[in-house]
Amino acid sequence: MDITFIGAAQTVTGSLHLFEYKKQKFILECGLFQGHREEAERINRTFPFKPKDIQAVILSHAHIDHSGNLPNLVQRGFSGPIYCTAATKDVATLLLADSAKIQEYDFAYLNKKRKKSGLPPKELLYTQTDVDSTVKLLTPVAYEEPFEPVKGVKTRLFDAGHILGSSVILLEADGKRILFSGDLGRKNMPIIRDPVIVKDINYFISESTYGGRTHKSFEGMTDEFRGIIKKGIDKGSKIIIPAFAVERTQVLVAILKNLYDEGTLEDVPVYVDSPLATNVTDVFRRHPECFDKETRKILEESDPFNFPGLHYVKDNEESKRLNAQQGPMIIMSASGMCEGGRVVHHLIHSIEDDRNMIVITGFQARGTLGRRILEGSKTVYIFNDEYTVRAKVYFIGGLSAHADGNDITEYIQSCNGSTLKKIYLIHGDIEESIALQDKIESRFSIDTDIPQSMTRVQI
Ligand SMILES: [Zn+2]
Repeated sequence: MDITFIGAAQTVTGSLHLFEYKKQKFILECGLFQGHREEAERINRTFPFKPKDIQAVILSHAHIDHSGNLPNLVQRGFSGPIYCTAATKDVATLLLADSAKIQEYDFAYLNKKRKKSGLPPKELLYTQTDVDSTVKLLTPVAYEEPFEPVKGVKTRLFDAGHILGSSVILLEADGKRILFSGDLGRKNMPIIRDPVIVKDINYFISESTYGGRTHKSFEGMTDEFRGIIKKGIDKGSKIIIPAFAVERTQVLVAILKNLYDEGTLEDVPVYVDSPLATNVTDVFRRHPECFDKETRKILEESDPFNFPGLHYVKDNEESKRLNAQQGPMIIMSASGMCEGGRVVHHLIHSIEDDRNMIVITGFQARGTLGRRILEGSKTVYIFNDEYTVRAKVYFIGGLSAHADGNDITEYIQSCNGSTLKKIYLIHGDIEESIALQDKIESRFSIDTDIPQSMTRVQI
């Protein structure tokens, strides 16, 4: 088997890996590269293979950095099956449509500017029509059900415990077992199951997003979160929580449901104000086969994603009405890094009042509004207007859906390290991958490599 690491090699975005077996080609992932516009444009528009030569795609999960370039692949001639779990199919259908919408919006703005400068318009990477053609190719397979993306390569998906429907991918050919981590999750997170250990593997291609870090424990995080929410309620705060639409919002709802059951949230309205998050939550409800034991138990008696006082806001007008409402109240809204979506409007209306709170619950990339708020900027610009940050800002760690360095090392140990010949570390900034490499090499005598983009290996 030949493997060419193309995307998410020494970086965290744009996952793409080409596999060749007896002159047959298939790819794992086809993610969107997210970064500076020109670089992203160049990378996303160039495939180092002919899309029509690819016989199949295997998709580990729906996140856009793993799935977001699929419509472009299809538009350029790919027409084979895209294997993934049924839950991934449903989440990806929503995320790809959202991605097409964001691009239309961005390109309309960009092309207006280009027109003013006398430049020709830029063409969209893909449209909703391409998304529709892509969704038709999404081919659901159940966890552990064997299939052959190409002749002679037996493949199975196992729960990765990262987001709903996520998988690690096991490929078997010529007596060799190759495991691809996709994005590896963590143990003991709410709603979904823990990552499944796949034993006796010979090669492991692992993500290394947080290879050099150690996450806070989930239990510690919940206590801290409870303390902040209580303080906010006592002060009559509007508590704004920017949250990713997939998994983070649902996990926060599950935590808040617990706080409600304990009596902390009595008479405090909680709003989920993101149409995408609301639709994704409906997908969660349709896939109880992905839930852990605790969530299945809740499901027997009630809705794990609802409790008295929780409102899913769909309508724009209803969202605007929240601006005039007084606290205490909790508003969870996307985007998670405050770069767009309804959360921006909630920030505009609450950021200058010192009674209010902004609770950041996830990674904030450099250059985003969320990052500036988190770093304690006294003033921020939103839609070119200046705002003084008077609301109190909190950061809650411990909610990451990615395994940290210790989790990955422990995973390798559980997979029975003695059969492992080589580990390839991908999907991480180089410092994180190196930190993980050091950790692995200090514990096991297994050869490791951090391949650059376009590195081709034969195994
Ligand atoms: Zn992911």
